[in-house]
Amino acid sequence: MQLIFEKSRSGRLGFRLPESDVYVFESLPQKYCRKEEARLPEVSELDVVRHFSGLSRLNFSVDTNFYPLGSCTMKYNPKFMEKAASLEGFSLLHPLIPQLSGGGILAQGSLEVLYHMDKLLSEITGMAAFTMQPLAGAHGELTGVMLISAYHKANGSLKKHIIIPDSSHGTNPASAAIAGYDVIVIPTDKEGYLDVQAYKKALSKDTAAVMLTCPDTLGLFNPKIKEIADLAHSAGALMYYDGANLNAIMGKCRPGDIGFDVVHLNLHKTFGTPHGGGGPGAGPVGVSSKLVDFLPISRVMRRDDNTYFLDYQNKKTIGYVAPFYGNFLVILKAYAYILALGKEGLIEVSENAVLSANYCLSRLKDYFEVAFDKICMHECVLSASRQVKYGVHALDISKYLIDKGFHPPTIYFPLIIKEAMMIEPTETESKETLDKFIEVMIEAAKLSKKNPQALNLAPEIMPIKRLDETKAAREPDLRWKP
Ligand SMILES: *Cc1c(COP(=O)(O)O)cnc(C)c1O
Repeated sequence: MQLIFEKSRSGRLGFRLPESDVYVFESLPQKYCRKEEARLPEVSELDVVRHFSGLSRLNFSVDTNFYPLGSCTMKYNPKFMEKAASLEGFSLLHPLIPQLSGGGILAQGSLEVLYHMDKLLSEITGMAAFTMQPLAGAHGELTGVMLISAYHKANGSLKKHIIIPDSSHGTNPASAAIAGYDVIVIPTDKEGYLDVQAYKKALSKDTAAVMLTCPDTLGLFNPKIKEIADLAHSAGALMYYDGANLNAIMGKCRPGDIGFDVVHLNLHKTFGTPHGGGGPGAGPVGVSSKLVDFLPISRVMRRDDNTYFLDYQNKKTIGYVAPFYGNFLVILKAYAYILALGKEGLIEVSENAVLSANYCLSRLKDYFEVAFDKICMHECVLSASRQVKYGVHALDISKYLIDKGFHPPTIYFPLIIKEAMMIEPTETESKETLDKFIEVMIEAAKLSKKNPQALNLAPEIMPIKRLDETKAAREPDLRWKP
């Protein structure tokens, strides 16, 4: 489009379209304004369509390929949830619309969703109440630790540290440290569980909380979890539950019943909403009754006449942890997911997630070292340590999987397992897909002996081949080159 830049009849410089005599006056001082058209590249619509369609085909996603990225729960994101989130009554609502008066009646449905979501998540986890504000799992952790800190301060006891196992997700110690606590790391015992002797030694009146993931990132459910929680409470500490892995236990057991005081959930893992590039996340935080007064404001409440309102009166609140009410449309999608599946559906999700992981484990354990050879929960941790003598590492196997159309599992994590490959198939994959993946993994194990170089050179058919990862990290070149 050609814009004409010239003086209008009033003598001011401005732009107009060739067929119009209406000027748009620049608000910038004239000396900064362009005097001639910018030389922008001209591209046809077809070329634009091809460019973006081409890029979208390079994208690796759950919609295109199996994605067994351990601890990330890359399950299918059902499309009906997107439909719910695009309903105009929700998507066009402004967060500052009055809650009740005038046009504010429009907000009542959204407040109802938030209120019911609080009740549903509380029921699923056995907690007293939830805040929907945190925008990711790690953000939920920080919120949770801030709640714990506020609770101890209100009770006049300044605690110093938080106890975290060495198998934890890296965000756990980071959240504890950002909230001002020292971190005491507890080793994992030979069975794959928290070393209870070391734990007992670390526990003291200075312990603010014990932060656990259960089942943990080794895919194991700690049978002593109740004892661990009781010990924490008798020392005056609170129990924090990293609920990113709730996909393994929904409808089977509830963190609140075990004795956890704070829980964060990742809606973008367990409750089917998209991760990262697919959309923002959400990390709601639930608390037991003794922490409800500290929850962030505002909270959605229901009046006797069944209308909803935002309550800012929580006197001991830690304040806002995010603008408004969190990622509302993400919460709405997860709400749709829970309603669609219902109680039986959620139980089935967990049972099938655990079944899929155990199927992969039992078919692969003859070919790869297993971190702990026992029934796993939602994910299993294998190791490429048997392949190392042929010069093949977890990284090589991962790159080979990419060539074969599979996203690699999480590798080199948990940190305590050498050459770790952490496979989380989730409940949404068919047995046929799992079988194809397992066959490629077996093929990789056999190739390690016969032709290790084939693995060392992978990927061969991807647009980007093997990267010099150290160089990429140390000297990132992020410029766009045509
Ligand atoms: C994913 C994950 C987190 C962090 O969640 P984000 O939404 O990525 O911030 C924390 N703990 C565990 C165990 C996880 O798997």
